[in-house]
Amino acid sequence: MQTYRGRFAPSPTGPLHPGSLLAALGSWLFARRAGGEWWLRIEDVDRIREVPGAAQDQLETLAAFGFVHDGPVVCQRERDALYAAALDRLLDAGHAFECHCSRSVIEAQGGIHRACIPGLRRPDPSIRLRVPDDCLVEFDDAIRGHQSQRIDRDVGDFVLRRSDGCWAYQLAVVVDDGAQGMTEVVRGADLLDSTPRQILLQQLLGLPTPAYAHLPLLVDAHGHKLSKSSSAHPIDRGNPLPALHEAWLQLGQVTFAASPQATSQEWLHDAIARFDPSRIPYSNMELS
Ligand code: GLU
Repeated sequence: MQTYRGRFAPSPTGPLHPGSLLAALGSWLFARRAGGEWWLRIEDVDRIREVPGAAQDQLETLAAFGFVHDGPVVCQRERDALYAAALDRLLDAGHAFECHCSRSVIEAQGGIHRACIPGLRRPDPSIRLRVPDDCLVEFDDAIRGHQSQRIDRDVGDFVLRRSDGCWAYQLAVVVDDGAQGMTEVVRGADLLDSTPRQILLQQLLGLPTPAYAHLPLLVDAHGHKLSKSSSAHPIDRGNPLPALHEAWLQLGQVTFAASPQATSQEWLHDAIARFDPSRIPYSNMELS
């Protein structure tokens, strides 16, 4: 049997907030309950959204919350060569192409790219995946059950390298999950609709498909994901237990009495045996 290897992969766009803690705790519990490994990856391919110092701050917060990780912390910014090699393979096999279409041209087609408008030239083309017709991808999510998406119709040819030269999340995450031998991906449900694209890329690159579990999202009163909302207050590094307990309840778990003197590491240790994935709710939850 292959050892369970999971990960938490924050983007360094600011301090960790209750929504990121939910994904960290959920992915950690799944991994530790299976006796598996839990790795950290800093997803800093988007140089424009990155906030200087945020990655270090996130790592320090995770450590203060008692999360101990396996393996080295991997940073995507150091992995250009891996992404370039994967992109070259896709280009050489005819699965990817240079695209000169502008955003407005694609918006005029309902936001879904299926063919380039002939004759357009731009100095900074993007590179897209050529999604075949009738491209149905299906998978079973450990929390949300059977999922399927027609990628050609619902997404279209998607970007692998952006026109500003940054690697697209979809390419980087697939290359990294493959290169790092991830067997399980536990993350927020905002990425549920990216998973079929990632499975398609895995298939085209000859990589194994991990098992997936998408956790409920914490949203603000307007239904916006916390990281994109002004109500996303950072979690308090000086007082981890209340935030851990809150995230535990958001995962649908039953309260347990921790000793008042428990450290967060002791609390996490006690939580492993009590964690019941079948209690995790499907729907997004408003932050109270
Ligand atoms: N970096 C992504 C985020 O912070 C998570 C990616 C993933 O888990 O696949 O939303």
